[in-house]
Order: sequence, then structure tokens, then C-alpha cells
Amino acid sequence: MYVAISATIGAMDPPVCGSGLPNGRLLSTMPPVREGPFEGPSTIRTEPAVVGGSLFAVVGRLGNLREETVELRRNPTRSVKIGSATIGAGNPIAVQSMTATHTQDIDATVAQIEDLYRAGADVVRVAVDSTKDAAALVEIRKQTKANLVVDLQENYRLAEVVAPHVDKLRYNPGHLYHHEREKPWQEKVKYLADIAREHDCAMRVGVNCGSVDPAKKEKYDPADSITPMLESAWEHCDFLDSLGFTRYCVSLKDSDPMKVIEGNRRFAEKRSDVPLHLGVTEAGMPPDGILKTRIAFEQLISKGIGDTIRVSLTVPNSRKSEEIDAGRKILADIAAGRVRSFVDYGLPTLNIISCPSCSRVENEAFIDLAQQVKEMTAYAKDHAITIAVMGCRVNGPGETDDADLGLWCGPSFVNLKKGPLELGAFPYDAILPRLKDELDKVIAAKVAG
Ligand code: SF4
Repeated sequence: MYVAISATIGAMDPPVCGSGLPNGRLLSTMPPVREGPFEGPSTIRTEPAVVGGSLFAVVGRLGNLREETVELRRNPTRSVKIGSATIGAGNPIAVQSMTATHTQDIDATVAQIEDLYRAGADVVRVAVDSTKDAAALVEIRKQTKANLVVDLQENYRLAEVVAPHVDKLRYNPGHLYHHEREKPWQEKVKYLADIAREHDCAMRVGVNCGSVDPAKKEKYDPADSITPMLESAWEHCDFLDSLGFTRYCVSLKDSDPMKVIEGNRRFAEKRSDVPLHLGVTEAGMPPDGILKTRIAFEQLISKGIGDTIRVSLTVPNSRKSEEIDAGRKILADIAAGRVRSFVDYGLPTLNIISCPSCSRVENEAFIDLAQQVKEMTAYAKDHAITIAVMGCRVNGPGETDDADLGLWCGPSFVNLKKGPLELGAFPYDAILPRLKDELDKVIAAKVAG
């Protein structure tokens, strides 16, 4: 059975590809370039496949572009129900956002939630910092069907007021220390878990680089900001498990996409059963904010990590739904192998990645070439080889370094590479036979061991 996620792509996030991103390293940021909107709708359909319980297939169609299939491995996470949405266990990756209005401004907050809901938000988070916010949220709930998450900050006891009206409680372990300092954090988490259980809520343990549990921070070198976050997250998971409360997910957010990648990768190595909510915090304005987030998501989702995402953007309230559009667009691109950083999907089969293309493309023949490469190399489908096809000289050279074979396209020539080694530049009509020669050699070398 197919589970459909539909998204209409409006103005595409500007493709600042730019970043020379071998293995997800952000080397530089190019100036933003805007390009026209995609035509037509896009959909991703996911078909859970029973392969070790952790694989599923994604079929992507983007506008008038070709349909492609990439099989993405998914970690075998638990299923966590958040209102009408379910994350984990191979379910489609949910896309979330958060309101930026004053919660007590009920009309504005409802309007923004509805805007996000119409844009396809699976879950919407609302901050509650005071009893007045909590009272407002009770009213807000009556005016929307969106799945709501309450973002509890320091005053964790507000949970009992809002839990009957929301679908998930998010708490930050680093904030539990501020109120009732004499009380152990375990008592506070047990209180939250009891409330969540009583009111049919999921929970998120939201660890943030800017507010890590001080007891964890002081154990480590200040230069190591990731290990304290992980220790805090793992500790809270263990404690929730010990309470028999497993309806939770975890987030590990930082403003540095490389830290987001490392933190989530290390977390998932130890707790591949816990669903992860991915996000780069304070990512900033589009297009840079989208690019930073995209890099992290490409590297994590391609490795089976991530069950729900948020693209955090600094945009006016009237444009908040761009977070949802950007999230859907990134997911669609990853599903179709259109990536801006080098991505190894970790599959035992041929992996062809091509950039999503942008105004930097110097010869439109690149689009056809990407398709022709896919068709010509079909005979090698059972070999674990990565071929990268990139559309320009700005980013193509750096982003093909880690592929077994790389093509980057100039105005009249296509440059062929074997790893970082340049093999020469060839006319567009001569590149395919040359690529085939090299592919045959790579296959022969792999077969020979
Ligand atoms: S053409 Fe492709 S590789 Fe070049 S900047 Fe645009 S998206 Fe990136």
C-alpha cells in the first residue's frame, strides 16, 4: 500500500548549492541565486518494504521532471502517535513547524496554525511560557484541527493545564532546573510522563545546544558541545523507558549543521529505536537557512535517520508556511537523489545522485545528461558504486570528489572524474561512452576485490 505525502512546490528555495559539501562538510557559502518556480505538483509516495523492517521505497515525482525511485533505509524506530499523525516505524517523515505569533494573540496564532495546516504541516508547535499562554492555548485548540504540540519552557507544571488540549508535550531537559530547584529532574519527568499518559499525549525530549543540562556540560571539555547533549538525551530516554513510557521522540538541535549531523548520527548508533525529530536551530533566513538545513537532512535521512523534520526559517509571519514547503521540497529531492551535498545512500546498489539544477547550470543539456547517465548505467545496478552528476563548475568539482565517478558540466564540455582525479573534459555527445569505459573499470576493480 502506498502512503501518500503530497506537496505543491511553489517558489523553490534558492539553490545556494554552493557549498562544496563532500561528506557533508560545509566548505564555503556561495552568494544566493534565485530561480523560477517548479511547474506542477510534486508528490512523494512511500511504500514500506519488509526488508529487515527498516527499508522503504520512495517514489518521487517533481513537477514535470522524471519519476525516480530511491530506496531509503530507515532506522527501525518505534511508532509514536501524535494526534492523527504517526511517526517512526517506517511511516512517512512528518513535516512540522512552530508558530511565531504571541500565543496570547489567539486570532493571530490560530491564523498562523491554519496557514501551516493548509500548507501540509503534520504537526504544529506552540510555545507556552505562562498561565496566560496556557489559557490562550485552550482557546486556540477549539479553533483548529491541526495536531498541536506544546513547547514547555521553564514552567513545566503548565503541562497539566494544556495537556488535555494538545497531542504532544515537548520539554527541554536543560530547562527543568529553573523551577523547584530542590526537586530532582526525575520527579519532574515522571510528572510529565504521567500527565502525557493520562491525556493521550506523545512527548519530545528536545535537547538544544544553547541550553544543555549544566551537570552534563561541566563533565566535558567546553570545546565538546555534542557529548553533553547526547548524554542528556540518552539519560532521559533511559529514564522514560524505566517508567514504561515509550511514546516519545528526541531532538538534538544546534545551529551548526555539522553538529546536527554528528549528534543525531551518534544518538542513532546507540538508540536506533527512538524516533528523531531533525532540525537546525536558528538556521536563519532563506536561502541560507534552507541550505544549512538541507545539508543536515541529506546526510541524515540518506542514512535512515529522522522521522520528523522542521526547517526553521527567519521569515515574516505571513510567510511561515515556507517552512513546510521547504521541508517537503528537501524530502522530495532526497527521495529522488537530487542532492546538494555528496550523499552515499549506503545501499548495496548503484547510487546515482544529481544536483537539483539551478540558474548556475551553463548548458541545459545537463538535465538530459543526468537522465541518460541513469539509463546507460542501468546494467551496473547491482554494484555499490556512486556516480555524481552536477550541473555547474562552481560546485561540481568539489561535490564530485567523493563519488566513484563524477561528472560536472560546463558550457560545452563535461568534466569526468574518478574520485578526486580529473580524467579530462569531453563534449556532451562523447561523454557517455567515456563514462561507460570508466564504469567498466570500476566494476572490474570491485569484482577483483
Ligand atoms: S547547478 Fe547544480 S551543482 Fe551547480 S550550484 Fe546549481 S544545484 Fe549546485
